[in-house]
Parts: sequence; C-alpha cells; structure tokens
Amino acid sequence: MKILAFNCGSSTLKFQLAEITEENGVFGKERRLALGTVDRIGRQGTVRCLILPGKEFSQPVTMAGHGEAVRWVLGWLDENILSGRNGLTAAGHRVVHGGDLFVNPTLINDDVVRGIESLSHLAPLHNEPALSAIRATREILGSAVPQVAVFDTAFHRTLPGAAGYALPADLVDKHKIRRYGFHGLAHRYMTERYAAITGTPPEQTKLITLQLGNGCSAAAIEYGRSVDTSMGFTPLEGLVMGTRSGDIDPTLAGYIAKREKVEVQEVERWLNARSGLLGVSGLSSDMRELLEAEDREDKRAALAVDMFCYRVRKFIGAYLAVLGGADAVIFGGGIGENSPRVRARICQAMDWCGLEIDPGRNAAAIGIEGRISAGSSRIEAWVIPVYEETVIAHDTAACLYSR
Ligand code: ADP
Repeated sequence: MKILAFNCGSSTLKFQLAEITEENGVFGKERRLALGTVDRIGRQGTVRCLILPGKEFSQPVTMAGHGEAVRWVLGWLDENILSGRNGLTAAGHRVVHGGDLFVNPTLINDDVVRGIESLSHLAPLHNEPALSAIRATREILGSAVPQVAVFDTAFHRTLPGAAGYALPADLVDKHKIRRYGFHGLAHRYMTERYAAITGTPPEQTKLITLQLGNGCSAAAIEYGRSVDTSMGFTPLEGLVMGTRSGDIDPTLAGYIAKREKVEVQEVERWLNARSGLLGVSGLSSDMRELLEAEDREDKRAALAVDMFCYRVRKFIGAYLAVLGGADAVIFGGGIGENSPRVRARICQAMDWCGLEIDPGRNAAAIGIEGRISAGSSRIEAWVIPVYEETVIAHDTAACLYSR
C-alpha cells in the first residue's frame, strides 16, 4: 500500500510518500518514494522535495497556511509521482494533542475532526496546523482515500500518577489537567530503533530519549513504556527550547503580566515564542547560529547554549533516578542528531554515573545512527535520527488493516 504521511510543525509541513508491504497483518520495512518539507509557512519560505532515489527539487514559495501547503504538495505529487493519485491507499497525519479523547491511531471522519477541534482549548497553538492539513486533504482526496490521525500524546499515556501535578484533585478532574507529554512519535521511534539496532527487546531496556530540535523534550522509558517526560499539559514545560522557556516558577506568568500591564495570555505567548535560546541570546533560536556566535565570544549566546545543555543534563540525572539507572541515552532531533559539540557538553563529567562519550565516535555521528559512548561506558549513548513520518505511515497502515 502507498501511504502519504503529513507532519505539521508550527511553521513547517513535512511529508513522505512510502510503500509498505503487508503479509498476514505483518508489515514490512517501508520503501520511501518521495519526501519533502515546506518551511516558513506564513512567510516567504522554501519547498524542498526529493523523489527517491535522488531527484531533487526546490523552489521559493509563500504559503498562507498549512492547508495551502498541503494543496501544493498534493498537486506536486500528482504531477510528479502519483499521476492522478493512482494507487494512493491512505494519508496519515500527526496531531499534537489527543487529550483524553484519542489514544490509538484513528480513522478520520467528521466526528473525529470535531473531536480534535474540541481539544483546541488545551492546545490552541498546536492542533490547528494539523486540522488545516486534514481539512485540505479531505477536500482534495475525498472519501475515496481514507485518512488516519496519529497522536503525539499517545505514547505517554502510560505515565504513572506520581509523575503528575500536585494540584487540587477537584481542579485536576474538572479541567482534565494532566501531564499529557508530547513528541510521542519521536520517543517511540528512538525506543523501537534502539531495540532493532541492538537486538534487545524494548521490554528489557531502560532508556532516556532526548528529542532536541526547535521543540525539545526528554523521556524516561522503562521496559518500552514512557514513565516520565519533560513536556506536560502543553509543550511549554521542561527543557530550554528554541523559543520556549521550559520550566520556570509558575508565579512568573502573573508577576510579569502585572508588571508589564498585559494579560497573562500575552505572557504565555512570550514564554512560548520569545524565550528559550532566542530570549536568552537576544540573537537567534537556531542552535547553529548560537554556536557560531559563541565562537565569536558572544556572551549571551554562550549563556543560552550553557543553559540548554545544563537543563538537558539535569533531566538525564533526574531520569536516572526515576529509572534506577539506564541502559542508554539516545539523542534525536536536529540538535541531537547533528551537533557533537552540544552532545559532548550535555554529557560532560557524567562519568560518575557511568556515561562516557567517545570523542571520535561522537564527531563521526552527524545525521546518522551510531553509538557514541566509549567502550568502557556503563551507560551507552546513541544518535538515532528520528523519522516521525515513518511512524505515521506504519500507524496509518496498521489502523487501516485493523479495520
Ligand atoms: P523541529 O523541532 O522544528 O523539527 P529540527 O529537529 O529540525 O526542528 O531542529 C532544528 C534545530 O536543529 C535548530 O536549532 C538547528 O540549529 C539545529 N541544528 C541543525 N543542524 C545542526 C548542527 N549541525 N549543529 C547544531 N545544531 C543544528
């Protein structure tokens, strides 16, 4: 079957068209046919596409929203590879927040769209891009091509009560306040890939997975199940991110609002969009630019990178305690996959717990899978580039098969 996977970020749309074989309910490894990214949606951006094995295409574009980007991608696929959408079996979408309505991959119909819309109050910034993509895909492909929603919160549904918020029970119940956790597809992918590469079943491993991109999160994975994660009710909590503050004293929202004479919602916007690496450095949310600025002795950029690495190290320490030790720490996401310098800085002086990075292996693992810990390290460290679209495609196929 040919599955088209869409993955909406706040200002990007990634897609992948893959062929997946199935025999008696067992799915083979996907064969990727085409993939691409539309970036800077809402501003002047670029679309980059690749027809595998190696025909590249890129052009500047200005897309008003994710719906328009989806229309463009479907048109491009139609012209270049699907010819009249022949043979497209299904489309899958990553949806950030499934709330307590959705856990399993779900076949999309009008009720499901309404359900995802009804969660908008939990995640005003996060579900809307996926909803626009879903609406546009349904409009163009019609009911002949089924669509499936795959939820980023689902992998963390196994979090124990102890990992939740110590808030009054009546408020928690009334307003469905939970540590939902996000980046579930990425943490699951790293867990499953580690198992496949090392030949160890997930049920026998304790892992700390780190998804370090523009958005960042850590997860403690015990025997294949997520038992703690750094993002919570929304993706704002936890690590220092490109533009998000991560953990702060919660009273700061009200305090800043009062002092700046703005609504709390405006401060929440600042915490999401102008804090983190961008806010501390005053320069950029992009780790590459900050590392370059640090080399030019820009002190604020250096502080931003220090805070970033320190916070990740702090979570590794916490999760070692949560898990009672770990077999491996896994790095994924744009920063985790591509920056030996940041990885080394995060893990520096962690030999006390048995985590030692091998400088040569670390330097070599850029954008590729590889073990980066020293032979003598009691805890392994790995780089595992994350392909969320692959998880979306497999979940979509499995959802269709189960029906
Ligand atoms: P998103 O979370 O939006 O999917 P990515 O996973 O693509 O984002 O990660 C983007 C981040 O990865 C940016 O901060 C970017 O600077 C960083 N990054 C990409 N390549 C490198 C590199 N070679 N060195 C350091 N950081 C990198």
